[in-house]
Amino acid sequence: MAVKILIPTPLRVYTGHNATVEVEGATVEEALRNLTKRFGEMQRHLYGENGSLRSYVNVYVNDEDIRYLDREKTPLEESDTLSIIPSIAGGVGVEAGNAEPDVRLQNEEVLRYSRHLIIPEIGMKGQKRLKASRVLLVGAGGLGSPLGFYLAAAGVGTIGIVDFDVVELTNLQRQILHTTNDIGTRKLESARRAIHDLNPHVTVVGHEVRLSSENALEILADYDIVVDGTDNFATRYLVNDACVILGKPNVYGSIFRFDGQVTVFDATRGPCYRCLYPAPPPPGLVPSCAEGGVLGVLPGIIGTLQALETVKLIVGQGDPLIGRLVLFDGLQLKFRELKLKKDPACPVCGEHPVIRELIDYEEFCGISPAEGNHDGAHEGMDITVEKLKERLDRGEDILLVDVREPHEYEIVNLGAKLIPLRKLPERVQELDPSREIVVHCKVGERSERAAEFLRGVGYRNVKNLVGGIRAWAERVDPSLPRY
Ligand SMILES: [Zn+2]
Repeated sequence: MAVKILIPTPLRVYTGHNATVEVEGATVEEALRNLTKRFGEMQRHLYGENGSLRSYVNVYVNDEDIRYLDREKTPLEESDTLSIIPSIAGGVGVEAGNAEPDVRLQNEEVLRYSRHLIIPEIGMKGQKRLKASRVLLVGAGGLGSPLGFYLAAAGVGTIGIVDFDVVELTNLQRQILHTTNDIGTRKLESARRAIHDLNPHVTVVGHEVRLSSENALEILADYDIVVDGTDNFATRYLVNDACVILGKPNVYGSIFRFDGQVTVFDATRGPCYRCLYPAPPPPGLVPSCAEGGVLGVLPGIIGTLQALETVKLIVGQGDPLIGRLVLFDGLQLKFRELKLKKDPACPVCGEHPVIRELIDYEEFCGISPAEGNHDGAHEGMDITVEKLKERLDRGEDILLVDVREPHEYEIVNLGAKLIPLRKLPERVQELDPSREIVVHCKVGERSERAAEFLRGVGYRNVKNLVGGIRAWAERVDPSLPRY
């Protein structure tokens, strides 16, 4: 029986860049086995050491999650479509009901919002609800940009923004709240200015902090809706758990290259993020946008959908995206929708929750405190760019290995031997184990895994270049392009 398996973008490198693969199989298990038989590298991405499907990989038959069917024993019929949905790293004082908030619109506002006021579903009541609403944007980056613009334009009265970054040149390809003149200034500042230029009636509240277990409940408590535009798993789980504990909706969006995901998590009436992904992927396995890239238009599309869902929640119209995950494939220009179910065993929103307060999310996501610190180096395992330069200048025998992709090598390289991380297992014999090896990538994440791999197969003298070629370009050779 032939079925179609849809391969998500991050895994297509393992299927010869095929977006769909046809395999034989009478059950999900058989179909996936035939997939991994044909594309061997898929095995370790889909299955753990113990042979069971990894917890951050969900499989759907048509639009149903197999966890709510017969799991891997789920029978397949001719022309069924299997989807592999990995988690990718890329929120109303307005009470439900018909209450009309006690706010007034000035004449200028009536005119400004006139195209809203004449839509029956919004009208004066909806517009007042928008004005009374408080929405928190977690992140003023790619997703936060269209969110900030459209929520401000629509008349959301208070927009809170959590962000402590500074505008960089690499942001401007997609983060349209910020301009070339803003490079070097705090994102909060440029976001506030852009929003006020568009709509001076909006109050912007800045939270220039890294959202953490210590401050999240206090910050989120002040808002009706939280919109998650973060780019890392630790913050996603933190935002989710805080929203569940506070009973607030979390409008979720994530992006990677040409793909996006959108849904609304509202544990009071549907599933939460942990119902979908109980555990995060190991650090480094799912590349971030900085490592994997993202098409500049994509956050515009996904962020705008998040803005739409936010406005719908505020005015209480339409069918919110609760219990539905929308997948967007920009290359094919296709939207698909999958059903999400609340997991009764969910550790935070299930029947017997075990997480009742915020935990250490960096630890939960397997990030050790040292990893965020690219300036420090583990003795013996890591090397800084300054130290490497010094040793190369002395003419020491060091084999430099670049584990990035060839298209990244083309942008800038240090003349190192190029072996992409995914090719390392099959090409490892090209490396002389008697020599000292320094591995590098763009920022040091992939090369850390490469170093671990090499040590694991017996290479004794392997060091990871902390901060990667990015740090080299910043601190050793500023003439090199950065990307
Ligand atoms: Zn849950």
